[in-house]
Amino acid sequence: MVKGLALLGATGSIGTQTLDVVEALPEDFRIAALAGGRNIERLAEQVRRFRPALVAVRDAEAAAALRAQVPAGTEVVHGRDGLVRAARHPEAQIVVCALVGAAGVEPAYAAIDAGKDLALANKEALVAAGAFLIARALETGAAILPIDSEHNAIHQCLRGEDRTEVKTLWLTASGGPFRTRDARTLAAVTPEQALRHPTWVMGPKITIDSATLMNKGLEVIEAHWLFGLPGERIKVVIHPKSIVHSMVEMADGSFKAQLGVTDMRHPIQYALTHPRRLPSPLPPFDPVAAGALVFETPDPERFPCLPLAYEALARGGAAPAVLNAANEVAVEAFLGHRAGFLDIPETVRHVVEKLGDAPAGSLDDLLDADRRARAAAAKLLECGVKP
Ligand code: NAD
Ligand code: MG
Repeated sequence: MVKGLALLGATGSIGTQTLDVVEALPEDFRIAALAGGRNIERLAEQVRRFRPALVAVRDAEAAAALRAQVPAGTEVVHGRDGLVRAARHPEAQIVVCALVGAAGVEPAYAAIDAGKDLALANKEALVAAGAFLIARALETGAAILPIDSEHNAIHQCLRGEDRTEVKTLWLTASGGPFRTRDARTLAAVTPEQALRHPTWVMGPKITIDSATLMNKGLEVIEAHWLFGLPGERIKVVIHPKSIVHSMVEMADGSFKAQLGVTDMRHPIQYALTHPRRLPSPLPPFDPVAAGALVFETPDPERFPCLPLAYEALARGGAAPAVLNAANEVAVEAFLGHRAGFLDIPETVRHVVEKLGDAPAGSLDDLLDADRRARAAAAKLLECGVKP
């Protein structure tokens, strides 16, 4: 049976790769709704190719521009409500959330609330509001299938296993472009240098997060919500080749790992077709060509964002939402040459110290903590961050 799919963040790195997967499986999926930001040209081309019933864009101006370019009968909506409408689209059984940042919280929640299965790339949604997303999914029966390669790997390793027999989750990290760089020179790195990721081609925000290792910190929190383990039982290990996508250590000491080529279309296809596995048109993995596999311990001095994320997870409540929001603002400032590379951890540290205990009793509380953390981070960066 053909499944309807709503794709949020269609024009981005994960979004376009999701469309590649869908295009190769025309008998399994059809696009019911697409949502994107301001890249109207790409979105218009996607609409002509996939003929969704509904398209959501960021603002009214983008909506007007898109309407002029798409077939009559395509409904074009905008703003936060537009994203939520795409997420709740009646013809969609699966929603792929490939938005970036906490902007994904409300649409991800809407999809789960409507009982749709959620293929989730947007880790920030779980970091900011994991408790409420997971609780609602249990109530509505919606499945959350991780696209993030590490969590997708763990999901695969856990198939058929008794969860009570899992000891530790091991997330692998490439280490990013500054893994071996002299730590004393990190203050001077430019966005252009940080954007050169050694193994993955991704959107700008996650690429900077990979250079600071905040990405791995966010993934520890993501793994906590997806697999229900505390931070002490989620470890991070540097694995520069990104071939082992992650590992699970069982109670008896046995390790299970998932390996493959570094191509996000693999985890995307797995998340979409689960519980089935279908042939993939991608080039096969060659273990001989992969060569030796190396693992190293991450250096917390060089990558302070990683311990900051563990601390926020242990603190609980609003702390992870605050950490995430401050990081988003600092990364944007760094990308815009308005902040230095080391201002990112310093901004996050200050804002979490100040606002980490904000109320977290409801989803609205967390969205409020997110807003306040953004304002605090922006102010801090404007005045100049002091270590
Ligand atoms: P990206 O910047 O390439 O794409 C983001 C998409 O979201 C774009 O289509 C953009 O237009 C849209 N968008 C952003 N904000 C929006 C808003 N407010 N309203 C409407 N649309 C909006 O990002 P990406 O690299 O594809 O990453 C997407 C998510 O997937 C992130 O959470 C990232 O951490 C996660 N992820 C990405 C990869 C990867 O390989 N790219 C791997 C693992 C996880
Ligand atoms: Mg990842």
